[in-house]
Amino acid sequence: MYYDDLSAYDYQDADAFTDRESGFYALWYRPAYARLNVGWLEAGRPYSTGAVPAVFVAKLAAVQQVQLMNECLGFHECGLCPEGEAPEGNGEVRIPGATGVAYAAPFLVGHYVTAHGYRPPQAFVDAVLAVDVDAWAAARWPDVPFPWVPEDAERMLE
Ligand SMILES: [Zn+2]
Repeated sequence: MYYDDLSAYDYQDADAFTDRESGFYALWYRPAYARLNVGWLEAGRPYSTGAVPAVFVAKLAAVQQVQLMNECLGFHECGLCPEGEAPEGNGEVRIPGATGVAYAAPFLVGHYVTAHGYRPPQAFVDAVLAVDVDAWAAARWPDVPFPWVPEDAERMLE
């Protein structure tokens, strides 16, 4: 799947978050915020490259440790790595940006940065740096590590 950076995300209608501790509590809702694509790279498509701050790489990795979302879609293999060496990623990442805008990245976005020199849009870098990872890591069900879950989100125990 390829999408231009900062194009409107329309891959899934709902955003779904899975509870990290239980692995099976989940909630989902149709977002009121706009979603912008970041990091949907594909072999044969040019992408933006360049250095990113080490603190960004570390923080993105920390976010991906605590936030599990849109995992229902199965595994996606990195198309830029040689066959047989490609890591797989499951799900996506949501990062709040300016009011009413969230960035929608595939789980492999961190790998694209560290292994393939991908440089995400500066707005995404800034948004990741602005995440309060400690607060996200402390979130316990029925809360999840994302600030804009609406009151009426559907919750279920699978
Ligand atoms: Zn790769």
